Order: sequence, then structure tokens, then C-alpha cells
Amino acid sequence: MNLINNSKTIDSNTSLFGLLGNPVSHSLGHLIHNQAFFEKNINALYLPFKITNIKKGIQAIKELGIKGVSITIPFKQSVIPYLDEIDDLALKIGAVNTIINKKGKLYGYNTDCNGAIKSLKKISTIKDKKICIIGAGGAARAIAFGIKKENGKILIVNRTREKGEILANQIKGELISILDIKTKSPDIIINTTSIGMTPDIYQTPLKKDFLSKKMVVMDIVYNPLHTRFLKNAAKKGCTIINGLSMFVNQGAAQFELFTGIKAPVDLMKKIVFTTVFKSRIMKTCKNV
Ligand code: NAP
Repeated sequence: MNLINNSKTIDSNTSLFGLLGNPVSHSLGHLIHNQAFFEKNINALYLPFKITNIKKGIQAIKELGIKGVSITIPFKQSVIPYLDEIDDLALKIGAVNTIINKKGKLYGYNTDCNGAIKSLKKISTIKDKKICIIGAGGAARAIAFGIKKENGKILIVNRTREKGEILANQIKGELISILDIKTKSPDIIINTTSIGMTPDIYQTPLKKDFLSKKMVVMDIVYNPLHTRFLKNAAKKGCTIINGLSMFVNQGAAQFELFTGIKAPVDLMKKIVFTTVFKSRIMKTCKNV
């Protein structure tokens, strides 16, 4: 898709939005937001920015008058001290994925939480389900708090034990080792790490023999949509949920924060489908 806004030209009134992260090459945010701006006749442009220093990234938002940004790996937690205000949900989660610049004051929000829970609830109930979250980063925190609110029982697995422990304590879940997954036999397993994300598409956070047919397996990585983890789960007969639905849900909520206008959700879904993913996994995923 060309990065041309609704007026077909960029002019001095064009509002700038963007993504701050590292890496950002996997992101599809520019596709859904630019297409939605076009559809809603909004003179705005959304661009990805790969940054190495979040403090400088935040200064750039103010200095350049960027109207709003998405925040991705690895800055969702470390961005918090640089914001002027944080909404209650994002504060509770301890992770921000959306920033709005209101006259030079920066407000932080989290749209990952509701985006993920909506996606999961399309396929499974959450109450009393034993749910293993792999990862303890920004997205994991959002999902864990959402599951806790829905009264699911949470198991946390994380590479860095201390981070996993902090999250498990906060949500009154249990920190387990990856090997414990076999004996704990969760109903649902969610990968919230970036393992398997483009370009490292042959990696998986969990080996096939940890999976069983009765499990629901969700991977929030959405590029590629058909991760190695989901391929393995599909082979085992698990019900699988890819990252697309969460991505569109969180992006739609973000668009509404950016513009105050209802997001064209179906269009956003379609643009991701038609432009990027023609994978056969679509036929096996029930959440999209
Ligand atoms: P983050 O805050 O940086 O957290 C990354 C997590 O992954 C941490 O728990 C980290 O463990 C773990 N991890 C990373 N590399 C690892 C490796 N090689 N081995 C083991 N663990 C590893 O990132 P995030 O913002 O939560 O995003 C994580 C992923 O979710 C990304 O792929 C992102 O694109 C995706 N995501 C998707 C959606 C969606 O809408 N579908 C929304 C948000 C995020 P340590 O604690 O040990 O570092």
C-alpha cells in the first residue's frame, strides 16, 4: 500500500502518528492506520520509527508535534516514567502501548488488554480455566491482568525468572518452569514472547510434545500469522488462535484514541488479510 493520505498529498496540515519500537519491521500498524485514515477522510499519516532510546523518542513526539504513537517492543514498560498521565488500566497493568499528545501533554493507555481478551473469548471461556502465559513483558502483563479480571487461573513461564515472579505475584498466579507445563496440563497456552516473529520464523517458545489435543493455543505474534508454534499446535489437533484478531482489536481501539472516530474494524481486518496474509492457516483459525 502506498503511504498516501486521503488528500493524495501530504501538506502542512497533515497530522503525524507513528510507532516507536525496536524492531519495527514486523509491524503492520502503518497498513491499518493509514487505510483507516483514508477511509475516514482524515488528513493524517502513520509511520514506523525504529528507536534505541525511549527518552529521546518521547522528546521527539513533543518536539515534532506528533499527535499520537503506538509503543511496541521493548518499550511498553520503560516508557511510563516519561508520560504526564496514565489511565487507570494502563497504570494497573504497568504497560503502555498507546500515547496521545494533547497540547504537549502525553497521556498513556493500554489497548492490548481488551484486544487480547476479546480475541480469546471468541473461542473459549476464561473463568476457572488454567491458562499458561509464556512471557512476562508488556503484552504478557496486559493479557495476565485481563485474564485475572475474568477469573482465569494463571501460570507464568518466563526466561528471566525475576520478571516472571513479579508478574505472577501481582496477579496472584503461579510462576512455573517451562518443563512444568507438561504436568500442569493447562487448558490454554498463550505465547506473548517475540519468539517465532519475523525474521526468526523457525523458532518456537515451546516444543510440540508439550501440547495436547484438548488445548487452546494462542500466539500473539502476528507476523508471520502462521508461526511455528501454531503450526505445531495445529498438527497436534489443538484449537489455535493467531495474533491477527488481537492486533486488529487493539489497533481499532488505538485509532479511536488517535481520532475520536469509530474505527473501520472490518476494513482493518481486510487490509491485513488481503495485503499480507494469504496463508492457509486462515482456514484453521476460528478467531478471525
Ligand atoms: P516485551 O515487553 O519486550 O516482552 C518480551 C517478552 O518476550 C519477555 O517476557 C521476554 O523475556 C520474552 N523473550 C523475548 N525474546 C526471548 C527469547 N529469545 N527467549 C525467551 N524469551 C524471550 O515485548 P511485548 O511488547 O510484550 O511484545 C511481545 C510480542 O508480542 C512481540 O512479538 C509483539 O509483536 C507481540 N504483540 C502482538 C500484539 C498483537 O496485537 N497481536 C500486541 C502486542 C504485542 P525476558 O523477560 O526474559 O526478557
